[in-house]
Amino acid sequence: MRRLYVILGDQLDHKSLIFDDVDKQQDCFWMAEVKEEATHVWSHKQRIALFLSAMRHFAESLKQRDLPLHYLTLNDHDYSSLADALGATIKEHNPESIWLVRPGDYRVFKSIAEACEARGVELKQLHDQHFLSTPSEFKQWANGKKQLRLEYWYRELRKKYHILMEDDKHPLGGKWNYDQSNRKSFNKDGPQNIPKTIDWEADEITTEVITLVNNNYPDHPGELEQLEWPVTPEQAQQALDRFLDECLQNFGDYQDAMWTDEPFLNHSLISSSLNLKLLHPLDVINAAETYHREKGAPLAAVEGFIRQILGWREYVRGLYWLNMPDWLEMNGLQASNDLPDFYWTGETDMNCLHQSIKQTLKYGYAHHIQRLMVTGLFSLIYGVKPKQIHEWYLAVYVDAVEWVELPNTLGMSQYVDNGIMASKPYAASGNYINKMSNYCKDCRYKPNEAIGDNACPFTTLFWDFLDKHESDFANNPRMGFMLKNLRRKSDEDLEQIKKQAAAFRENTNK
Ligand SMILES: Cc1cc2nc3c(=O)[nH]c(=O)nc-3n(C[C@H](O)[C@H](O)[C@H](O)COP(=O)(O)OP(=O)(O)OC[C@H]3O[C@@H](n4cnc5c(N)ncnc54)[C@H](O)[C@@H]3O)c2cc1C
Ligand code: SF4
Repeated sequence: MRRLYVILGDQLDHKSLIFDDVDKQQDCFWMAEVKEEATHVWSHKQRIALFLSAMRHFAESLKQRDLPLHYLTLNDHDYSSLADALGATIKEHNPESIWLVRPGDYRVFKSIAEACEARGVELKQLHDQHFLSTPSEFKQWANGKKQLRLEYWYRELRKKYHILMEDDKHPLGGKWNYDQSNRKSFNKDGPQNIPKTIDWEADEITTEVITLVNNNYPDHPGELEQLEWPVTPEQAQQALDRFLDECLQNFGDYQDAMWTDEPFLNHSLISSSLNLKLLHPLDVINAAETYHREKGAPLAAVEGFIRQILGWREYVRGLYWLNMPDWLEMNGLQASNDLPDFYWTGETDMNCLHQSIKQTLKYGYAHHIQRLMVTGLFSLIYGVKPKQIHEWYLAVYVDAVEWVELPNTLGMSQYVDNGIMASKPYAASGNYINKMSNYCKDCRYKPNEAIGDNACPFTTLFWDFLDKHESDFANNPRMGFMLKNLRRKSDEDLEQIKKQAAAFRENTNK
């Protein structure tokens, strides 16, 4: 064998550079389903099924293209990890070199590199052209900067790809960012006419995978009667078209809003398709821009959507490679509590958490503000150990792959790095959740109370968190307002809050 081309489960990109120089007589593609990828974190059944079904569909399409493929199916081998499986194939076929598009995860990259080294075979790495920037471009941009703020990276990429631009220098509409117009909450009648999501009919491959996952991983979190997510590029395109036609119009306004029993609202639901590489981000961005230029979709909505993909998605990837593996070990706020058990069941009387976790267990999905300002916020102010909350997010969302999950969890949401990613911790009391949702209406707690039987645990923990970290945040100008409010509290109230927070922590995992 001349070359063995490794394709990982989140590299299902038909336009990948890996197809550029193949000699069908001497080379072979290689894909493997291995236990470790489903179990290194306690993976949601929807997440495992999505990866397996999408991989098997991709393998089918390689066969249709008449490309040679060595595919290891989960129950047909005993290798527990990718490295073991690859090592065995190398031993059997003795390829001159292994070719691989740069993996998304540091862990996977390291284990494949080690497997190649152990067998003495050369590993060649290809650029992942699914992304719109490279880790080295990001590193160059970051070099010498005191603070790496999304906004400036996003502007670089807007200019580079000429997205929503008037000319080479000026943004369309005169403003780079419409974030301020994208923070509305629903009025008391709630969201109206939320478009239906697509019911994906399971074909033979998906049906088989659902049975396999339910049999192999019965105690894993989540429900899996049907798979709720696109598994082919065609389905991913359908999901995108549904979003552009039916949701984009209202995406901006209510991007941050939450509502009982409305898990999806106007969100695009394309993150898993993007992360598996079933959709290319530039195609998504160009399509959204066309909806503004030709079909009248509001600029604020379109800019808000494009910023998530061209801005946040590329920015978190750049930060990931800049800060790994150190990021995984950071714990700047010395958080030391175990993740509450209800994160795995949703069984809690805090309605916001109950709603967000229940839908997570059902679909493997929660939208950004539920992740950041409900489950993430609670973990931050409760003080969950960073590795535990990181592993929870990596396990329970169908779009979870480490390069995007880790910066969002450890950097943005848990502030473990004291500000590499976020300029301040996303800390808030229950009043924020009350403003952005109707969750508090059906909750036994009162969001504006910090002390007493009805006190909202978010509000109690928020003041306790600020008090505990007052000196950590003292020099952060963005925390000035919160700290001023903290200092207005009487000593007696603060004492009560601290006692109530301690008792709450003590009772939580009992
Ligand atoms: C603690 C935490 C963990 C997260 N973990 C993941 C993860 O594992 N995988 C993941 O793809 N996203 C993650 N996100 C980002 C974001 O929540 C999801 O991308 C989004 O909710 C996916 O739903 P959607 O496709 O309907 O997105 P939309 O709200 O419709 O947004 C459109 C697209 O923009 C991109 N995007 C939006 N926000 C971000 C962001 N902060 N970082 C990177 N890309 C973004 C996604 O590709 C998304 O599909 C996380 C956010 C937080 C706060
Ligand atoms: S009152 Fe507090 S715990 Fe209850 S839903 Fe509101 S924010 Fe959540």
